[in-house]
Amino acid sequence: MTRTVYLNGDYLPEHEAKVSVFDRGFLMADGVYEVTSVLDGKLIDFQGHCVRLARSLGELEMKNPHTEAEWLEIHRQMVARNGIVDGMIYLQVTRGNPGDRDFAYPGPETEPTVVLFTQSKPGLADNPAAKTGWKVISIPDIRWGRRDIKTVQLLYPSMGKMAAKKAGVDDSWFVEDGVVTEGTSNNTYIVKGNRIITRQLSHDILHGITRAAVLRFAVEAQMEVEERPFTIAEAQAADEAFISSASAFVMPVVEVDGKAVGTGKPGHVVARLREIYLDEMRKAAV
Ligand code: PLP
Repeated sequence: MTRTVYLNGDYLPEHEAKVSVFDRGFLMADGVYEVTSVLDGKLIDFQGHCVRLARSLGELEMKNPHTEAEWLEIHRQMVARNGIVDGMIYLQVTRGNPGDRDFAYPGPETEPTVVLFTQSKPGLADNPAAKTGWKVISIPDIRWGRRDIKTVQLLYPSMGKMAAKKAGVDDSWFVEDGVVTEGTSNNTYIVKGNRIITRQLSHDILHGITRAAVLRFAVEAQMEVEERPFTIAEAQAADEAFISSASAFVMPVVEVDGKAVGTGKPGHVVARLREIYLDEMRKAAV
């Protein structure tokens, strides 16, 4: 099926949507993005993604081309025009096409490039991997120092995903100064008893929208939350481990660098958090 994509105000068949070779997103990875999940035709945590988008744009001195109400309307159009029941909406804003290549940012006459497309994933919330869990390996974190800005420079996360594939596992966890920062495209957690441990927010990690919701629900469910870094050895010795992201939701991690975590099977704390997250977010979906 030909998708309808959004490009700078127009809804177009995907093969008709064209972006300039001088676009700074293409030449310099000068752009930011968001991925919002759709369940039952509704947007999950739309507002959270909109707030983070505004923050990423602000940190890069780019103007936000739309109000929250306009973004919502565009997202809803994309869901409707592409008949998305379960899936994702990818949104990207770049600094646009100044008509040439130059390191300095162009002036305000250069309009941002805005692109949205959909990815249909029927049964997104029933991912069978949630029953078996992910295996991960650790690799050094050599990314830049502003990982809190959701930029499109994703080459090292892609290399991390390939390292995982080559090792026959599901993902890589990045390690810096002896502690885990995050996964290739997710935030990381360990569970000890009733306590959830996850790295605190800083410039070192992306401020996950799913992370914020999961920690809120954990506290509401009388779990303890400790925000601090943890080591790979600690993860291997934990009762349970998991990751969170907008499209994987809450996903158990059952093996780290070849060692089983807990029983080597998804545990009940993670299963409960996943269930609460999906229930509550479906209720609040727009
Ligand atoms: N960390 C990184 C590096 C990511 O790329 C992502 C999502 O793409 C996340 C964490 C999770 O963020 P969210 O829950 O907002 O999807």
